[in-house]
Amino acid sequence: ELANIGVVGLAAMGASLARNLAHHGNTVAVYNRHYSRTETLINEHGDEGKFIPSKTLEEFVASLAKPRTAIIMVKAGDPTDQMINALADLMEPGDIIVDAGNAYFKDTIRREKAIRARGLHFVGCGVSGGEEGALKGPSMMPGGTEESWKTLGPILKTISAQAEGEPCVTHIGSDGAGHFVKMVHNGIEYADMQLISESYDLMRRGLGLSVDELADVFAEWNKGDLDSYLIEITAEVLRHKDAKTGKPFLDIVVDRAGMKGTGTWTVQTALSLGTPVTGIGEAVFARGLSSEADLRAEAQTKGLAGPEPEGAFSAIAADPEERAAFIEDVRQALYASKIVAYAQGFNEIEEGAKEYNWKIDLGAVARIWRGGCIIRAKFLNRISDAYDSGEQFGSLLFDPFFKAAVEGAQASWRRVVARAAEAGIPVPVFSSSLAYYDGLRSKRLPAALIQGQRDFFGAHTYGRVDEPGVFHTLWAEPGRKEIKQA
Ligand code: NDP
Repeated sequence: ELANIGVVGLAAMGASLARNLAHHGNTVAVYNRHYSRTETLINEHGDEGKFIPSKTLEEFVASLAKPRTAIIMVKAGDPTDQMINALADLMEPGDIIVDAGNAYFKDTIRREKAIRARGLHFVGCGVSGGEEGALKGPSMMPGGTEESWKTLGPILKTISAQAEGEPCVTHIGSDGAGHFVKMVHNGIEYADMQLISESYDLMRRGLGLSVDELADVFAEWNKGDLDSYLIEITAEVLRHKDAKTGKPFLDIVVDRAGMKGTGTWTVQTALSLGTPVTGIGEAVFARGLSSEADLRAEAQTKGLAGPEPEGAFSAIAADPEERAAFIEDVRQALYASKIVAYAQGFNEIEEGAKEYNWKIDLGAVARIWRGGCIIRAKFLNRISDAYDSGEQFGSLLFDPFFKAAVEGAQASWRRVVARAAEAGIPVPVFSSSLAYYDGLRSKRLPAALIQGQRDFFGAHTYGRVDEPGVFHTLWAEPGRKEIKQA
């Protein structure tokens, strides 16, 4: 018997994906550069379904039924390129190579073009949900041709997560569209995690809540609008105690957040597209600042002063009613900021689609993020409704549901940002999201002054509110005459 699908690269992700495929009735060809991983998979999980292990890539390809479909799950970067080329050398026109690693979408565009020129299909597929997702059902974001989706779609639908009875996978668009959307997914994940962390900081440092009280707060929040995987695991992490010291787990963890690059890509891409993703940007920078160990240590020795008194929250903290009201304010601020972060992320997908000629169904993207992935949340139902209704006209913030939600939350949101500033607790994503919202709704922006400055020092020209055309003022000349340039 031949395999209907194969997996190359059997580390954490690949092995889990191969098992998931086998659990769903596929016959799965498996190959890893070092055979030991293949052996481990077969020894430990070989009885879970039908696997065909191979020691060489030639045998692996020979064990696949045509059109051959192979999913690559190896280290991102050069190893992925090497594996794609090695497979393409052994495959035939019509065969499908899937890269399910975390590739940069421009690499995927390049690879797709090269592989297409050889008559094969190349599908860059974003996979979210970590190892557990890969095993039990991830959210999957495949790009590539419509034709490859015909073969791949039915298989991916069986192994993906399900949300409200629908598989969390859809054909995102051609070439790099899938990896682009996965990249923005990760960017949104950064913003979401930072927002939750800012909420935690305000309530712990500000209000003086204990980790157990905080765990209860987040568990309660998880029953409402904020119902999501990240809020759920936040409560779990908060409640966890370190076995060695008995202290709250959070207090024994080094407070330097790591990153692997997808957040940075999201921001770099947004900058080149000219799309402000301030929430994601601030979240990436906040991780950066947390990791500046030397700078932070020096700031401690230099004793950079904060506001007086340190206990700006003490009156609120002391009064149970005020305390409860502030906790609710934080919840509202988190909700509103989260809406802004998602609105910005979806705008980046829209702009990316325009730039790279993809037809991306934003409602479908929201739907496949409802299960399997790290940002899965009830709230995504509302986002898909908004995009499906076509009423968002350029920003999620214009959708009637989200418009009302943000308007309802804004008083709380403003109080939280103001109090945080007074208390000296950094809330970069809360505050930048609010600034974005206020910037968007302002009828006049101080950009007029910037245009004036630019025209003054660099003759960069400006437009007039009362007349079409391009204008420049002769600033250095007496009388400062205005000339119309076009
Ligand atoms: P790693 O990224 O740690 O990569 C290890 C695998 O790559 C091993 O199978 C290894 O083979 C293989 N490999 C490395 N170099 C080469 C090479 N030159 N030629 C052939 N094979 C090579 O594995 P993960 O399972 O963590 O991740 C796989 C992919 O999935 C990555 O692209 C990652 O970014 C992505 N991803 C990971 C997620 C996660 O939560 N970990 C989530 C979503 C995506 P060998 O055993 O022979 O060394």
